[in-house]
Amino acid sequence: MATYTTTNPTTGAIEREFPKLDEAGVQDVLHRSDAAFPGWRSTAVRERAEILTRVADAYADRKEELGRLIATEMGKPLGEAIGEAELAGEIYRWYAEHGPDLLEPEALDPQGAEESLVTTEPVGPLVGVMPWNYPYYQVARFAAPNLMAGNTVILKHAEICAASAQVMEEILHAAGVPEDVYINVFAGHEQIATMIADPRVHGVSLTGSERAGAAVAETAGKNLKKAVLELGGSDAFILLEDADVGRVARTAAKARLSNAGQACNSPKRMIVLNSQLEDFVATVTSVFSEATIGDPLEKGVRVGPLSSVKARDTVVDQVKRAVEQGATLHTGGDALEGDGAFMRPAVLTGITPEMDAYSEEIFGPVAMVYGVDSEEEAVQLANDVGFGLSGSVWGSDVGRAQAVADRLAVGMAYVNEHGTTLPGLPFGGVKRSGFGRELGRWGMGEFVNTRLRRTA
Ligand code: NAP
Repeated sequence: MATYTTTNPTTGAIEREFPKLDEAGVQDVLHRSDAAFPGWRSTAVRERAEILTRVADAYADRKEELGRLIATEMGKPLGEAIGEAELAGEIYRWYAEHGPDLLEPEALDPQGAEESLVTTEPVGPLVGVMPWNYPYYQVARFAAPNLMAGNTVILKHAEICAASAQVMEEILHAAGVPEDVYINVFAGHEQIATMIADPRVHGVSLTGSERAGAAVAETAGKNLKKAVLELGGSDAFILLEDADVGRVARTAAKARLSNAGQACNSPKRMIVLNSQLEDFVATVTSVFSEATIGDPLEKGVRVGPLSSVKARDTVVDQVKRAVEQGATLHTGGDALEGDGAFMRPAVLTGITPEMDAYSEEIFGPVAMVYGVDSEEEAVQLANDVGFGLSGSVWGSDVGRAQAVADRLAVGMAYVNEHGTTLPGLPFGGVKRSGFGRELGRWGMGEFVNTRLRRTA
């Protein structure tokens, strides 16, 4: 592949082609990123914050155009796409507002000396590898804190969203980020490995699949580089017996259909008491079967295409396999005819531990609903997967719901909401969902030198 090629998943038409880096280009990028570091780290913190504020303003001003771009690139319904552009802008704004305080030196209890001072310092060029499912938001989570901290960034986005990757670079440069401080690259996997291994690079952050995470972490480990990994998830959404079944089932269904189900923290496994199962499944099934599927640019469309025909076929195959292995399909699960990457949302029940669907991540509009006899069983089931990204518990007795939430083996546990992401809240998982945190003060603590100066 000598180019990054983008395809509109609504029509199947090839939209744009971008030349890939050659080997000399890889070295050039490494040289430029490294050479830009001293100047950027010594740029006043206030100035870096002002630049990020201008980035935030640009996202707000251009949200409609940015939304349209990703709707045609990866299929997200326009309203959701505009919302994502706004959120990305707010992440830059959060770091512009809070970054200066987070970077203030901290005087510790000197413990017998004249002074013990801790400063937070940048480490140098970093590589970011990002996925297509939230093209703007994922990049902002990585770029905003690291640019604020004074690191330089080499960004490799998913091939699917090459055009939005290029626009993000333009926005950052126009706002005042020096050209070599943020470099977007259209690079192959091996070229990324070369960059990670290079002594001028000081860390890598990847959001994506377990396969990609393992490959990147292996290179990072071999070369003693720090890695942050934000990987897959199969989040549990647990209903307690005092939950309002109809209302919460509608919330679960809508959340699962958001972004055509292609979110790491989508509520992929809904766990309800057997006494609630019939009503819950009926409601989710009706929301799914009535959801308008179509062109993400059209008003009223709830479910757009998946990101590609290949991604759609994978999900359709996962549903088919689940049924072949004995699960019950209540609606959908089939591909729509035509060149687009559309499928009908599916609801599955009767999934048992020996079926693939029990332990796999299904990255599409598929609800897996489980019936259990007790809260205890719900918690066991929720924790019985390799992933540990987030989970939610729903009920009217908040204290009881919190107690159940406290037992989930996840990085983010929610009560009466699911998957809220805000610039100041930490984001990340445990187990096979990865390690490290993005957003908030934690996101600025990953690639910095927490440096002690002690004076006797
Ligand atoms: P993917 O195939 O892993 O791709 C993600 C990124 O990694 C892309 O830029 C891809 O580049 C790159 N990549 C893949 N293999 C690589 C390798 N060996 N070396 C270097 N780069 C490599 O993931 P996806 O299918 O696009 O995204 C879906 C997955 O991401 C799901 O599992 C989802 O749950 C997870 N995700 C997690 C979070 C989180 O915060 N935890 C958020 C969103 C998504 P190419 O496009 O060039 O292949």
